[in-house]
Amino acid sequence: MIKPDAVENGHIGGILDKITSAGFKIVAMKYTQLSRRDAQAFYAIHKERPFFGELVDFMTRGPIVSAILEKDNAVEDFRALIGATNPADAAEGTIRKLFATSIAENAVHGSDSDENAAIEGAFHFAGREIF
Ligand code: ATP
Ligand code: MG
Repeated sequence: MIKPDAVENGHIGGILDKITSAGFKIVAMKYTQLSRRDAQAFYAIHKERPFFGELVDFMTRGPIVSAILEKDNAVEDFRALIGATNPADAAEGTIRKLFATSIAENAVHGSDSDENAAIEGAFHFAGREIF
């Protein structure tokens, strides 16, 4: 996902350029806004964390871009491309270093395993929307 902060700040094009230039193929994509229920379900793993309410407020405050990306070693390579959760710790040239503003508003989400990528892809897309 390209998160609401990056959409608000006009970074959809810049982020997609970094993603496709790094060799990822976009196999599904949409521009949408998460409901509170959607965000709570998507980030359910974090529901006991102190920042959960803030995370749900943030992720629902405006539109996002969701996409399914395909590449060899995609999960690991995408997390390297986006950089550390806190942009202050992210390596030079990473998407979060370039486009994120804070640990909470960090521009993009990346799946953390192939298993979660499949779950998250099905959360956002119907089968006929995946190419
Ligand atoms: P994501 O799952 O969005 O790709 P991540 O895997 O790098 O990010 P997680 O630990 O899964 O990081 O946290 C999920 C999201 O919760 C973060 O991307 C960020 O938006 C928010 N978050 C994480 N830690 C904090 C924090 N300490 N304070 C506020 N928000 C936070
Ligand atoms: Mg995560």
